[in-house]
Amino acid sequence: MAATDLHVRFPAVSLLSQAEFALRRRAVQDRLDARHLHESSLPTGAATLLLHGTCALCLRRTEFASETGSWERMADGRRVPRWDGALACDCRDALPKQARAIVHFAESEAMLRPWTRLLLFGPPDASHRRLAALAGHTVTVPALRADGGGLGPEAAPAAFQLAVAVDCLHRTPPLDAAFAAFRRALAPGGSLLFTVPFRHDAARTVTRPDLGSHGVRLATMLREPVHEIGWDVLDRLRAAGFAHAAAHWYWSAELGYLGAFSMIFHAAL
Ligand SMILES: [Zn+2]
Repeated sequence: MAATDLHVRFPAVSLLSQAEFALRRRAVQDRLDARHLHESSLPTGAATLLLHGTCALCLRRTEFASETGSWERMADGRRVPRWDGALACDCRDALPKQARAIVHFAESEAMLRPWTRLLLFGPPDASHRRLAALAGHTVTVPALRADGGGLGPEAAPAAFQLAVAVDCLHRTPPLDAAFAAFRRALAPGGSLLFTVPFRHDAARTVTRPDLGSHGVRLATMLREPVHEIGWDVLDRLRAAGFAHAAAHWYWSAELGYLGAFSMIFHAAL
């Protein structure tokens, strides 16, 4: 069996709306409480927190390492975990939680295969090397063109089967234009996968005042969020021409995917 045939199922529930999220959250409140207890029981006072688990990418037992130095300290000396950039696998890529989840999702849900034409959007991310290694051909576009030229000449219409944007769309001022640009760059059946700081209790995205014609560059330079993304992001993806758009709410202690409301967004043509 080829390595690409081996997959661990991505541990998520897919949600089409805030209403579905609210229903689901009520239905699994006991489980959420248990997860919270589990996470609260971890000894986060040490400089490096090591947790046994299974890496869904390496397909083996590993020790996930979390450097706790940059975490906010509580009164009792323990740290408030920031799991997204923690829980690194001990392999060469040392991918932290969110990066592993993105690659895992891309393989098991978004059909990333050795022949996939892949568009990586946004600044360099820990997940990029592994994603590119799994794809057939990869083009990287760091930002939308400030002149309104969308993704630029690198992204010809229908050129890609998968586009991935890691934690950058909240700094991309023309959000709807960005979604439309991704849709144009994707081939039939293609999909957009992204993570973004997400306000899971907000129905609507709040956007700061336009920074002007150089907004793209300014927002990137300042590394400040332009959008506080809420659930209407799914409607905006549909309005941009994606037939299916869902938030995938994932968690797994075994796979080292900790944190209460971790979401990966996936929109398919
Ligand atoms: Zn690994």
